[in-house]
Amino acid sequence: MEIKFERFHLQSDFRPPLGGSEVISIPTEVRIDPLTKRRSRIITWALPLQDKFDFSKMTQESKGCIFCPENVLQKTPQFLNEISSEGRISIGGAIGFPNLYPAGTYGSVVVLCRDHFLNLNQFTSELYEEGLSVSIEMIKRTMSFDPDARYWQISQNFLLPGGSSILHPHLQVIGDPIPTNEMGWLIDNCINYYQENGTLYWNDLIKIEKGLGKRYITNIGNVHWFVSFAPIGFNEVCGSVEGHGSITTLGQEEIVSLARGIVSTLKYYYDKNLNSFNFSLYSISGETSYQLLIRIISRTPFQSNYLNDCTSFEVLQSELTANIIPEELCREIRPYFP
Ligand SMILES: [Zn+2]
Repeated sequence: MEIKFERFHLQSDFRPPLGGSEVISIPTEVRIDPLTKRRSRIITWALPLQDKFDFSKMTQESKGCIFCPENVLQKTPQFLNEISSEGRISIGGAIGFPNLYPAGTYGSVVVLCRDHFLNLNQFTSELYEEGLSVSIEMIKRTMSFDPDARYWQISQNFLLPGGSSILHPHLQVIGDPIPTNEMGWLIDNCINYYQENGTLYWNDLIKIEKGLGKRYITNIGNVHWFVSFAPIGFNEVCGSVEGHGSITTLGQEEIVSLARGIVSTLKYYYDKNLNSFNFSLYSISGETSYQLLIRIISRTPFQSNYLNDCTSFEVLQSELTANIIPEELCREIRPYFP
């Protein structure tokens, strides 16, 4: 099994609206992910972005939410005694507790800060270091009495386009004894790759990407940051953590590296007038051929004429689209990383 960067060039030709002999050609690229073989469609045009959205009215109206400091200890549920006899787990300004509306076996929330709203340039590394540390503590304590819960996602859905009804910055930490679709595809393909090559896919990919230099951003400690060849979302940035498959084995250095990469990506999104995003850390224990991965994507920004970014391509054709050439994104985002 070889790491191949396969792509198809598609092109649409047409004449201008008022006719004439000129032919306008718009290219589209379909790329095949080297690991999952999933197709992504890179669209080479994008609707012009509007100005930065002013969140002050929305922030004012929704202040005093369930995650705000005056409510969080009164209105959020508490862990079972097996996980925390204190009910909730806090580190610095981050506080973790069970989700009132879980979507799995272990569904928790980590509120990242006391502030009800942050612009993307206001998220700090410290805030994610604390949020990730609380998440890791919750996962470790849960797995100590239920080791079958091996599959965990630590995700952030930020703002309405990202699927969050609550503005207040928070993480979702969800663990199950079965993987999600995405985790299943990652595991199966990593196992196949390992059986055929005797090496870890992510290590080999990083080596190749470093050599090519077109999509590799940088490394922060042993977290390697890069742009996917075949992204599954807009402005997708990935981090692969060398030597770890599960988030539970990370030390402080890796936690800081992840936090710094997230914050660098969000600062870039802010400068591009984006305001909504998702990320997921795919944490899987007991799979030696797998390596911990984080994916960060932007969503169509919240604005007065909001446009959903999931079209029939994504929801019915299972073909994901992106609107920036990955190599271009890599060039643009590199200066944002330390
Ligand atoms: Zn709040």
